[in-house]
Amino acid sequence: MATEKGRTEVKELGEFGLIEKLTQPFTIHNETTIKGVGDDSAVIDTGNDFMVISTDFLVENIHFDLTYAPLKHVGYKAVVVNLSDIYAMNAVPHQITVSIAFSNRFSVEGLSELYDGIRAACDDYKVDLVGGDTTSSLLGLYISVTAVGRVPKSKVAYRNTARVNDAICVTGDLGSAYLGLQILEREKQVFLANPDMQPTFDQQTELVRKTLLPKARKDIIEKLAKLDVTPTAMMDISDGLSSEIMHITSQSNVGARVYEEQIPITEQTYNQAVEFQIDPLNCALSGGDEYELVFTVDQSDLEDVIAIPDVHHIGNIVSVSSGKKIITKGGNEHELKALGWRHF
Ligand code: ADP
Ligand code: MG
Repeated sequence: MATEKGRTEVKELGEFGLIEKLTQPFTIHNETTIKGVGDDSAVIDTGNDFMVISTDFLVENIHFDLTYAPLKHVGYKAVVVNLSDIYAMNAVPHQITVSIAFSNRFSVEGLSELYDGIRAACDDYKVDLVGGDTTSSLLGLYISVTAVGRVPKSKVAYRNTARVNDAICVTGDLGSAYLGLQILEREKQVFLANPDMQPTFDQQTELVRKTLLPKARKDIIEKLAKLDVTPTAMMDISDGLSSEIMHITSQSNVGARVYEEQIPITEQTYNQAVEFQIDPLNCALSGGDEYELVFTVDQSDLEDVIAIPDVHHIGNIVSVSSGKKIITKGGNEHELKALGWRHF
């Protein structure tokens, strides 16, 4: 609510409320704009196929911390998080642009390391760096990446097209990126207290890798294409599984049943969560930065789809009046949102 002076704090609206308020007054002027704000990427009609465009902004000490993230890793991740939004449309990324702003704390050698990481991601995902912008900042490093991809018109996967009775699937395992970040934060505190101490991540390598060097699920998009299966809805997991399922179900006007026992949590994630005294299920439901895919498919495609390694069937789409619920191992039903936010 606005105060007497007419000032509203952004936190009152939240990120999505703010985006909605700022973008809602805009009218679409071009017929070629098929999808504007509200999905992982915008969708543009090129005539023969759709072009998809996505952009993300990474800010030092908000999205990455150079105390523990090498510049090369930051560059790699900045590209991967954008490509993930292109794959989330069932599209193939082709080009990126990269814009940077940096203070005089950064040297040519440091920025070259950043670009070594960007180049490694371009080579891994076969995308081309085709432009960008370079400028200075008073403090810190800012990186904005825009990715462009293509998809045949009949294959595009939106967030708002899940249908009652579709199966809900996720890729990979969940909760590990969140725990990897907690491990790095813990090591940072140890390091700040005693700079001679070097961190050892022997037991937690995979968790730390997932947060420092995430992968985008190019492999899954390729396998779905090979099967000729188009997800009925899809998005990538950047904010947390339960938040993303809320987006798909709200935008599609449907409900969901998700089963705790089907949610992929590795033994390592489970043990690390217990060590941090956090509920492993909450890590999987609310942990962000996973860059896995959550998608829905027709039940007739489910058998083929779950035969893809790393794809898990975690629940089903139900009618909107049935709500959005998680069924625990003990058989209890909880509101998906409520359980997801329990410890965060
Ligand atoms: P994602 O997590 O998949 O990158 P976001 O949650 O960042 O998506 O954004 C949700 C939607 O809002 C996207 O369609 C995005 O393009 C759009 N969006 C975000 N910020 C802005 C902005 N400042 N102006 C216009 N559109 C925006
Ligand atoms: Mg996304």
